Amino acid sequence: MRAAARRAMVAIVVVANALAPGNVRPAEAADRLAVTATTGQVADMARHVGGDRVKVTALMGPGVDPHLYSPSEGDLGRLFDADVILFSGLNLEGRLAEVLGLLGEQRPVVAVTDPLPRDLLIASPEYPDEFDPHVWGDPSLWLRCVERVYAVLSEADPEGEAVYRANADAYTAQLAALDAAAAARMATIPEGQRVLVTAHDAFAYFGRRFGLEVVGLQGISTDTEAGVSDLQRVANLIAERNVPAIFVESSVSPATIEAVQAAVRDRGAEVVIGGELYSDALGDDGTPEGTYVGMLQHNIETIVTALGGAPSPAPPPA
Ligand SMILES: [Zn+2]
Repeated sequence: MRAAARRAMVAIVVVANALAPGNVRPAEAADRLAVTATTGQVADMARHVGGDRVKVTALMGPGVDPHLYSPSEGDLGRLFDADVILFSGLNLEGRLAEVLGLLGEQRPVVAVTDPLPRDLLIASPEYPDEFDPHVWGDPSLWLRCVERVYAVLSEADPEGEAVYRANADAYTAQLAALDAAAAARMATIPEGQRVLVTAHDAFAYFGRRFGLEVVGLQGISTDTEAGVSDLQRVANLIAERNVPAIFVESSVSPATIEAVQAAVRDRGAEVVIGGELYSDALGDDGTPEGTYVGMLQHNIETIVTALGGAPSPAPPPA
């Protein structure tokens, strides 16, 4: 949608909501803080920290690409109804910036990545003044965002402060344990095979944290299409270095990565598609990959298995 049309739609929804008769929340909903989050990762964090005191709505479901996401009219309603809006930030939700700015005049609209020290961020290779937004790839960095969510919820609902404190501490500890376990698993991938080839550059933080060289076809944002020279560069690298597997992403069309596979074959080499990784969106609700922890564990096991790391440890006997 063009910017002017989007602005007009926001204005219409804002006015319609303000004028709606009986615009009072039902008693049950009034007890709980209404939090609208942009991505699944942010919504999951809000649910962990907020617990029973908040009602969290995620705008972007499984498979949705946040770089390209524009809000529907229903989404604008969900944003308007929120007491608190949480987004990921660092320009991940680029096309939502204007709408969030307007909504921020009436309620807290907060980027969870705000507290991250800038010296821990990775510069965007495409835009010199910007940072790579995919920080959730590194759990040791993502867990620092929990504190921001705690602060925002406590300010909006001071009576819940002790609950938010305890929940935030528990979730931070869970993410720290996830980070340590993930590092131990990733360390089993043999030295020569520590290369991660994916469709877009969503894994720079992941690669830095777990010692993997990351090769993406598109840039940081899926807004730019992979060119032929990109494809040849990556195919050459895979063939020369005998990279055993490449990966598709749940929120990016698999066509690009299949084209790489074909180009590698043209060079007389073979590379398998090692599986699907969750990069910018979580999996379906109710599945393990529908949570941040489950999504990261899925990525770790998929990558470790395809790149020749140690078999996953047997679950403890029941
Ligand atoms: Zn991305």
